[in-house]
Amino acid sequence: MTAANRADREEVLIPGSFEYHRPASLSEAVALLGQLDSEARVIAGGHSLIPMMKLRLALPSHLIDLAGVAELKGVRLDGSELVIGAMTTQHEIIGSALLQQQAPILRETAEAIADPQVRYLGTIGGNVANGDPGNDMPALMMTLSATYVLRGASGERRVAARDYYLSPYETAAGPGEVLAAIRFPAPPQGHGWAYEKLKRKVGDYATAAAAVILTVAGGKIGTCAIGLTNVGGTPLFANDAAAAVIGTALDKPVLARAAAAATAIAEPAADGRGSAEYRAKMAGVMTARALTRAFARARS
Ligand SMILES: Cc1cc2nc3c(=O)[nH]c(=O)nc-3n(C[C@H](O)[C@H](O)[C@H](O)COP(=O)(O)OP(=O)(O)OC[C@H]3O[C@@H](n4cnc5c(N)ncnc54)[C@H](O)[C@@H]3O)c2cc1C
Repeated sequence: MTAANRADREEVLIPGSFEYHRPASLSEAVALLGQLDSEARVIAGGHSLIPMMKLRLALPSHLIDLAGVAELKGVRLDGSELVIGAMTTQHEIIGSALLQQQAPILRETAEAIADPQVRYLGTIGGNVANGDPGNDMPALMMTLSATYVLRGASGERRVAARDYYLSPYETAAGPGEVLAAIRFPAPPQGHGWAYEKLKRKVGDYATAAAAVILTVAGGKIGTCAIGLTNVGGTPLFANDAAAAVIGTALDKPVLARAAAAATAIAEPAADGRGSAEYRAKMAGVMTARALTRAFARARS
């Protein structure tokens, strides 16, 4: 493209100018990322990236569209692990009979994201790779002990969701790496689960949210994991809050201790959703609500 053509396009495009690529396979996508300059980006559903491009907060020189890469789609069981392809949409997660049977918290969390229009195109891979602490899936992936499968020029590597988030929009993915899939152990049959999200209105990001997965044996909580959304620069794994409930029958003082432990690690910014103090407090409230529902589900 000539400089004059590029200048003409600059005048008519809301985002900056970019070249569009549509690879047919994951290896082609990875090869393109390696060949093109460092401002090349993959695009999945586009529901986080395109708004950033329209504001010119993201100015990719090349967009590599993963929509034609069939191998990145779908949900399957691999031994005792569930595997979700990165390009599986939030709508497909809601409709997955396998997930509904094995890990229904995926559906409850996906249904808390935005609205059907966003969920038809938005993918689980884009949601977790984005690095936005407001995204709902990352805290759930920490709770499920998920592993992210990354593919780059030198092959495949796996990173635990709990190690993946470094700071807002900064992740452990290296340049040129594409998230191919998410893997997590299928939670035990009869486990309890809940995702509680406080939001100002339908379609809003969380003021605070909590994901809980637990097991109950003999009326008491045997194992528990808790993740928090949008109350820090990254999703948070609430280890102390989970430890507070293990071995208990979740009475009121225990719930209060767990809520206080969740509030203690929350470091939200003050924004239109409330003061930092309020949002940290809500992290505790969401934790207590999610624990209560998860415990009831495990006992029913
Ligand atoms: C009105 C509105 C409301 C929303 N509300 C919520 C909400 O409440 N909760 C919530 O969680 N989200 C919300 N979202 C965001 C939505 O869920 C996005 O779809 C999601 O965050 C990103 O998924 P995507 O497939 O659209 O990714 P894209 O927008 O295409 O990509 C996002 C980022 O991830 C990178 N990326 C994408 N796929 C990969 C991959 N496979 N490997 C490596 N990098 C990749 C891209 O390069 C880009 O940097 C909202 C969006 C809108 C427009």
